[in-house]
Amino acid sequence: MADLEAFRTETRSWLEENCPPGARGPGYVPLGSRTIELEPDTRLWQERMAEKGWTVPTWPKAYGGAELEREEYNILVQELQKIGARTPLTGRGVNYIGPTILEFGTEEQKAKWLPVCARGDGAWAMGYSEPGAGSDLASLSTRAVRDGDNYVINGSKIWTSDATYCDYIFVLVRTSPDKPKHEGISLVLVDMGQPGVQVSPIQLISGASPFCETHFDNAIVPVEDLIGGVDNGWTVGKRLLQFERSTHAGINISGSQGGRTVENNVRELVQTYTADETGRVQDHPTRKWLTQFEMNTRAQQLTQKRAVEELQSRAPGFTSSAVKLSNALNIQDGDELVLAAMGAQGLRWGESADKAELDSVKKWLYQKSLTIAGGTKEVQLNIIAKRVLGLPD
Ligand SMILES: Cc1cc2nc3c(=O)[nH]c(=O)nc-3n(C[C@H](O)[C@H](O)[C@H](O)COP(=O)(O)OP(=O)(O)OC[C@H]3O[C@@H](n4cnc5c(N)ncnc54)[C@H](O)[C@@H]3O)c2cc1C
Repeated sequence: MADLEAFRTETRSWLEENCPPGARGPGYVPLGSRTIELEPDTRLWQERMAEKGWTVPTWPKAYGGAELEREEYNILVQELQKIGARTPLTGRGVNYIGPTILEFGTEEQKAKWLPVCARGDGAWAMGYSEPGAGSDLASLSTRAVRDGDNYVINGSKIWTSDATYCDYIFVLVRTSPDKPKHEGISLVLVDMGQPGVQVSPIQLISGASPFCETHFDNAIVPVEDLIGGVDNGWTVGKRLLQFERSTHAGINISGSQGGRTVENNVRELVQTYTADETGRVQDHPTRKWLTQFEMNTRAQQLTQKRAVEELQSRAPGFTSSAVKLSNALNIQDGDELVLAAMGAQGLRWGESADKAELDSVKKWLYQKSLTIAGGTKEVQLNIIAKRVLGLPD
């Protein structure tokens, strides 16, 4: 206990001294991309935290972490949030593929890749979905054929988020086409800088273009960059999905979680559009909806906090599906509430809309994807039914 208090005191003073003003409060959190230039304070914060091992606080020191125990990790998060320090580094390196390599990688793979993830020396994309393989992921057809010391990759992935500025991509590939579909898959790490990898952006309904098609045309992967054994990709890839879902749910303790990057401003918006001069929302159904939304949000936050505090390893198993789904549904409920409060103004688009209106309609459209990304709502319900509740097929 005394040790923990000493840890808190040291942590507090180190953070106070080392977190630059420009890395506090809402703002950009780096993914480690080599092609995105960072504000000086954001860059400095990432570097200092990486040096301290606090971009991945619970990982072993040998791989760029700080080996914090669970209680120490909780203290670090509390102290980061107390001063509004932003998460220093996020993305699929620290949150998805890093923890997966930690669990399934060989010593050589850990030594090669984990420090890369911990420093944010390159951003990672996720090459799972294909035009014919989304929920039914095991039907994927991107091929990897062994050629001496390499695999040669051919095929296409779709919905690869952030691919235009990623440096690496972890890809589920078919290594044994003659085996049953779940048994012939492997997970490989691909350098996106090579000529055999091409990326084309996809335009979304919200106007943004955050994801892409990624094509592999004789792309090369050294055999030592196949993670978890040949044809074992279904097991490895499913575990990675648990890390992804836990991250969506706020319960993955690989990366350090600083302050929020986006404020939850549902109450503020509802009041702006429906409150009288005393600040009271007069319309009874809207008031009831807002109260229910805030209760659900609080319950969700407490569930996330409890899940993190109880975690023995870096991510829970199948329960990540439940927390991910309830988080997404709650966020979408907040969007619907804001839209109802704004009325017709909440659906403005183009030049007639002011910034707040446009932001809100874009957010509403974008956040519809939260019950698709990382596995759809129906797929999560199937997992909860089978794996958490033990219901029959
Ligand atoms: C914002 C966003 C980011 C994404 N980023 C990535 C990424 O970086 N990398 C990547 O690989 N993929 C990414 N995806 C893709 C995502 O994983 C897939 O969209 C998702 O798995 C669903 O696959 P699909 O789109 O092919 O839909 P389908 O699988 O075709 O599903 C269509 C509908 O059928 C339902 N359905 C399908 N099977 C069942 C079933 N067995 N039981 C009940 N209902 C079912 C689904 O729930 C859905 O409603 C992203 C998606 C989004 C929205």
